[in-house]
Amino acid sequence: MFLKASSLAAMVWPGMVAGESAAAGRTGFAVSQKRLMLRHTWSISRNSSDFKDNVFVRLERDGVVGWGEAAPNVRYGQTAEQTAAALEKVRPLVKAGDWLAYVSLREQWERAMPEPSCAHAALDIAVLDWVGKRLNVPLYRLFGLDANRTPVTTFSIGIDTPEVVRQKVEEAKDFPVLKIKVGRENDGEILAAVREVTDKPLRVDANEGWHDKEQALEKIRWLQRLGVELIEQPLPAAMIEETAWLRERVDIPIIADEAVQRAGDIPRLAGAYDGINVKLMKAGGIQEAVRMIHVARALGLKVMLGCMIESSVAVSAAAHLSPLVDYADLDGNLLISNDPFVGVAVERGKLILNDRPGLGVSERTES
Ligand code: MG
Repeated sequence: MFLKASSLAAMVWPGMVAGESAAAGRTGFAVSQKRLMLRHTWSISRNSSDFKDNVFVRLERDGVVGWGEAAPNVRYGQTAEQTAAALEKVRPLVKAGDWLAYVSLREQWERAMPEPSCAHAALDIAVLDWVGKRLNVPLYRLFGLDANRTPVTTFSIGIDTPEVVRQKVEEAKDFPVLKIKVGRENDGEILAAVREVTDKPLRVDANEGWHDKEQALEKIRWLQRLGVELIEQPLPAAMIEETAWLRERVDIPIIADEAVQRAGDIPRLAGAYDGINVKLMKAGGIQEAVRMIHVARALGLKVMLGCMIESSVAVSAAAHLSPLVDYADLDGNLLISNDPFVGVAVERGKLILNDRPGLGVSERTES
């Protein structure tokens, strides 16, 4: 079983596993933490990491199991401990709830647990996985989507030395489009290293790393000359007016990521950005992500579906919504070396959903 796998035991922090199995009753609600190891040190403009501690939720009722995942993110002040504690708080409410009435159930836990958004995401994903399995339909079917219409996902290249960047680009040879992280001192060096080894379409993410609009303008014009398709979050989230100024002066789409978490954030961004990056962890789950996609569409914005460093649980959850979006950046599970699950597949960049019910994920059995 999942928590007993010897290869995983070391990743579960002692004393941090809380929960109960279905053996204790008809309804199970277990919370556990796992350390996901990155294949390469993961560096973006604001930080670097070798691992991420994510929180998993396992729900069980009527012999049906639903999995959910939270990827706490330091940018939003989230930690694994805080996330696990928040989930404990709503345990009685969720255990007593009607999971098929997942819209009402979510309203209840939102009132009881204001923060963090990733804990909401874990519950929402777990409940919807359970609902899909209980109704025997894949999630994309539950949402009326066509699995053949999934987009190509980018593969992300974190900030690194030119030598490692070239190696990462080589490792990503099966992916037709790459997402390049910039926003430190060596932007020029990184893009030069990428262009030395590939002429693929590129998308660039500065993760709020540029702080001056004139400097950002110069950099984006230079990226345009390199054939970059779009720029994500060039300036800090709070610099909305400066981003609007920038948008009037560049030709490629500017996509908001850190500037947008939930649907309510979108209208004020409509004049400053061309599109938004929706992530389940920021939104608080699948239901809010769907709302965000529709709000963005109503405002004429492009939509990207992204992720944090996540296992195949949360990445597969997002992939089920991917037929609704223009751009996918769903590679978090591919950046880790010890994914405890198997779910959505990728073939030459295209996301491939299976037709199993719910998320279509299963625990990885090989060690
Ligand atoms: Mg981003």
